[in-house]
Amino acid sequence: MRKPVSIAIVFCANFFFVFTIAAQKKIPKSPTITVKDEAINDIQAKYSEYKEIALQIWNYAEVGYKEVKSSALLQKTLTDNGFDVKAGVAEIPTAFVATYGSGKPVIGILAEFDALPGLSQEAIPEKKPIEGKDAGHGCGHHLFGTASVAAGIELKKLIEAKKINGTIKVFGCPAEEGGSGKVYMVRAGLFNDVDIVIHWHPGAENAVTMTSALANKSAKFRFYGIAAHAAASPEKGRSALDGVEAMDNMVNMMREHVPQETRIHYVITNGGKAPNVVPDFAEVYYYVRHPKRELVVSIFDRVVKAAEGAAMGTGTKVEYEIIGGTHDLLLNKTLADVMQKNLEKVGGVIYTTEEREFGKKIQSSFGYSAPAIETAAIIKPIKADEDAGGGSTDVGDVSYAVPTVGLRTATWVPGTPAHSWQATACGGTEIGTKGLIVAAKTMVLTAIDLFINPALIEQAKEEFKKDVGDYKYHALLGDRKPALNYRD
Ligand SMILES: [Zn+2]
Repeated sequence: MRKPVSIAIVFCANFFFVFTIAAQKKIPKSPTITVKDEAINDIQAKYSEYKEIALQIWNYAEVGYKEVKSSALLQKTLTDNGFDVKAGVAEIPTAFVATYGSGKPVIGILAEFDALPGLSQEAIPEKKPIEGKDAGHGCGHHLFGTASVAAGIELKKLIEAKKINGTIKVFGCPAEEGGSGKVYMVRAGLFNDVDIVIHWHPGAENAVTMTSALANKSAKFRFYGIAAHAAASPEKGRSALDGVEAMDNMVNMMREHVPQETRIHYVITNGGKAPNVVPDFAEVYYYVRHPKRELVVSIFDRVVKAAEGAAMGTGTKVEYEIIGGTHDLLLNKTLADVMQKNLEKVGGVIYTTEEREFGKKIQSSFGYSAPAIETAAIIKPIKADEDAGGGSTDVGDVSYAVPTVGLRTATWVPGTPAHSWQATACGGTEIGTKGLIVAAKTMVLTAIDLFINPALIEQAKEEFKKDVGDYKYHALLGDRKPALNYRD
């Protein structure tokens, strides 16, 4: 670089004084470049590498417990970077724990990577599924997994360089979407030695999570009837579909008599094959949700009663299989405050002109007015929400095992709903991968604060203990084995 030379000409009492200020020496490396700034620069320097990984997983688009290639790619990335990876944990082939370092504190980072059925979509701003593909990353978990791996690798580097001391663990968490993958990992005790867990989620804005989640319980109800010719001998048949429909009717009447915040939804996953055959088998898949897990359990029991009544009335038999069950999400104000400062330091997402155009097209498909595109650059102030939000997450179960903190970043254009083709589309572009980098940086900076300041961890644990009280954790899905085929 050319050395800058400054020349000042000063007019003073009829004389010109010409000063030539000595050429400035090359600036030595500023002591203000902290560990945090180095980490930010490091992650940014590896942007294209992480972008490639995320887009690869976006392409794989593997659904819950079938994320063989996605999990393998993240595991390989961690192994190549010096992590010790243990795969197939908690009796789940695609779950893993990657560890680096030793001693306390132990900081965990969650990584998800499952896609959603029916959300295949090209990376373009109009609805167009990818031919021959059913699933798509409509919840951005390809970004989720990649950012968490990126954060883990950067923290490993800092431990190796002795800038921080302790252990970093990246948890590869399959089947978040309905499979409750983390519940089995909590049940298997994988978080027992972890001090703090950090996570994030793709979104349409940048904010630290201060909204809880709904506890839920889900099950598949299977009705068995008797097949017969639907016109020639209907009296000999008993319709399994009648069983499903009678159950659905009863549950729909029940909606009037459950607490206001309850959510119950179902899809008929098998309703028979042909109208002229009385179906001898039918299946309906139910979710029950409420902010309080005790209420989820009691409402779910009433849904089971409806199933039994329906079977009795239709002359069919019913059995059910619990598929998933998750706790509400415990928040931690101590950790959230730390994360907020770091998110503010990192800043939001800035779009290029082309990305803005893409984003405006996406927004015009909503049919409602969306926040300005530029709000993707803004960090929302921290604020505890009164309600529990509308979704559920198996991070809830982790939050009952370890003090947990998370954020969401703008990986989708402002206003984009999760589980939409628009979310899949944005996730397949740099709109998504830019948000991934914001998340990775924020998680690293938050972990640095925790590694260098044990008092923060203690304070977070105090808050956690108070919130859990004397509740003894019990998985809502009971002791069933992982539902590895729940997407079949
Ligand atoms: Zn999600």
